[in-house]
Amino acid sequence: MPKNKKIFLLAIFVVLIASFSLHQPLINLFKDKTPPAEQIPSFKSINSTIEQGDTLFSIFLDHGLRTEDLFAMKSAAASIHPLKALRPGKAYSIVLDEQNFINSFTYGIDDDTILKIERVENQFQARKYDIPYETRILTVSGTIEDNLISAVGTERENYLLALQVADILAWDIDFNTDLRTGDTFRIITEGLYLNGDFKKYGKILAVEFINNNQAYRAFLFEHGDKPNYYDAAGNSLRKAFLKAPLSFRRISSHFSKSRFHPVLKIYRPHHGIDYTAPTGTPVSTVGDGKITFAGRKGAYGKLIIISHRNGYQTYYGHLSRFAKGIHMGKNVKQGDLIGYVGATGLATGPHLHYEMRQGKAPINPFRVKNVAGEPVPKTQMAEFKKQTLTLDKIFAAAIFYDARQEESKKYCLNPEMLAEYRNSSKASKPQS
Ligand SMILES: [Zn+2]
Repeated sequence: MPKNKKIFLLAIFVVLIASFSLHQPLINLFKDKTPPAEQIPSFKSINSTIEQGDTLFSIFLDHGLRTEDLFAMKSAAASIHPLKALRPGKAYSIVLDEQNFINSFTYGIDDDTILKIERVENQFQARKYDIPYETRILTVSGTIEDNLISAVGTERENYLLALQVADILAWDIDFNTDLRTGDTFRIITEGLYLNGDFKKYGKILAVEFINNNQAYRAFLFEHGDKPNYYDAAGNSLRKAFLKAPLSFRRISSHFSKSRFHPVLKIYRPHHGIDYTAPTGTPVSTVGDGKITFAGRKGAYGKLIIISHRNGYQTYYGHLSRFAKGIHMGKNVKQGDLIGYVGATGLATGPHLHYEMRQGKAPINPFRVKNVAGEPVPKTQMAEFKKQTLTLDKIFAAAIFYDARQEESKKYCLNPEMLAEYRNSSKASKPQS
């Protein structure tokens, strides 16, 4: 992210937090305690961000504030959000009365939550507040030139949107090796806004990805405890095995520090699949199972074997090391980190040797497509159809803006389409 952009976003956040502390009518969360406007001038406020090495104690020392207040605030916040956990880069605001007593302390815990400690009748009270975003619906699209992240945009919010897309389709598309120049995607997603400004993306409602001339579509449908994605017929996209043992999300975050996204190559010189990848690239299990081997084995070098349901086994060879806590007999969940790419055993360079067997026989993992998730329940099918029909209409009629253009976030869906979507999705949620 460009530096001045980051500073700009930070500035917005500082202003937001400051407005929380000063009881401005910007957000009506605190109107029950809003003092008359003429009382405000006697308060002063400190608006800043936590810096590396800052503690609340050092901040208090810097501003000559009372340590009694600090201790009282700490104990008030202890069970809500310990003040030891202040993180560099987060915005905070302190409001003081004319005698430098703390009136309130406000701190941005994360993108969704604000901590507020307030003096109420000479005692501190701590509470967490959700940042009250307004949800709009955005349509974004792109074309793959080299990888998903460069197509969606490297700026933080776009980057997170790209990872969401990769997660939704992780059972069908290996975003490290399957993408082709000219692949296209269209996304219908929530955009979260504050005071009319785009802040971040929310949930993806639908995505369509054309990979190598094959279309993959996913529709969000929320029922029960967690949101799931389905194809147009209501089948779950979840399968027993992920498309690849090298997770796009893990690799992206692993290499983001060096600003380097390795282009992985895939080879099939034998009954397994080889992924060339830098030493240290995280390897994850493609499915739920139990580790039946974790050690050295001849040409495989450091090897992990995982047994899955229905007699399937997966092999991960030439690892440089195992992940923490990995040992024989351990149960693992799909996507868990198990080790790191290396060149142990008979390997000319760092790569992951991956193979799948059923019984003793090696099989092609790309042919195995057991759906593992439940389909949309029959009782909910009418609602699901109604909702996907609306999303289909949006796909057919809406303009999809280039994901990489900042401007695109100004253009949300036209109100009638949005109203229609809201009506159809409301039907599927339990009335509160
Ligand atoms: Zn191999």
